[in-house]
Amino acid sequence: MKRKGKYLLRLDDFSFDCNWKYWDDILSFLIELGIKPIIAVIPDNKDKEDSNNPIPILEFWNKVRYYQSKGCTIALHGENHLKVNDRKGIMRVTNASEFVGLSYDVQYKKISNGINIFRNNGVKTNMWIAPFHSFDYTTLKVLKKVGINVISDSYSTFPYYYKGFYWVGCQLWDRFRKNRKGIWTICYHPNVWDDNKLNLIKDDILKNIDNIVGFEDINNIKVSSFRAITTHKIVIIKYQFKSFLKKIYKILF
Ligand SMILES: [Zn+2]
Repeated sequence: MKRKGKYLLRLDDFSFDCNWKYWDDILSFLIELGIKPIIAVIPDNKDKEDSNNPIPILEFWNKVRYYQSKGCTIALHGENHLKVNDRKGIMRVTNASEFVGLSYDVQYKKISNGINIFRNNGVKTNMWIAPFHSFDYTTLKVLKKVGINVISDSYSTFPYYYKGFYWVGCQLWDRFRKNRKGIWTICYHPNVWDDNKLNLIKDDILKNIDNIVGFEDINNIKVSSFRAITTHKIVIIKYQFKSFLKKIYKILF
């Protein structure tokens, strides 16, 4: 493995009512360049926060199948993207969740519904992207049951195996970070872009094009399970410790 960092691009919140102006633009730009991003698809979007101009459902799934045929990695992004509580889950990134704390049966119903919608529309996936980066150990049990074995979420600089899943980091938002070794995923949200942001992101992608990879290029890279588990635990402990210090600081000052 070379020391130079490699970058995966991940586009979140693709749904029938997404912001088509930016989604159509960025996806055709990437495909023309031969870049194969990960696309987080919401099977049954009910989250109206970023809702834009809906297109007919059949047309939406045509697009999903088209991008999959172009080598993009299609991931299951929850069921309906609705926040049910403010729990952080395993990753502790946000105070919002569609899944954390729900029973196995409820999570199973939601996730298998999502998988069935994918299947009924001719789309296969084995990758999970949790809405709000928020899921718990019950979610993992359900994911295993429905045949998902890749998770795009972790702070680790290299992918690893943990609890029967291949974990690929998602550590950056909107921007590349230069000269770092490892596999980095940059997460984008085209639904909230404006023209200026689109252009900045395109420029950034062109500047870094030599180091962009697709999921298929990295899905056999791994570190030892010992390093995986320690990395996984250490980053979470570090994160929890930082949040704890922030809370103390708020109380004192
Ligand atoms: Zn999302």
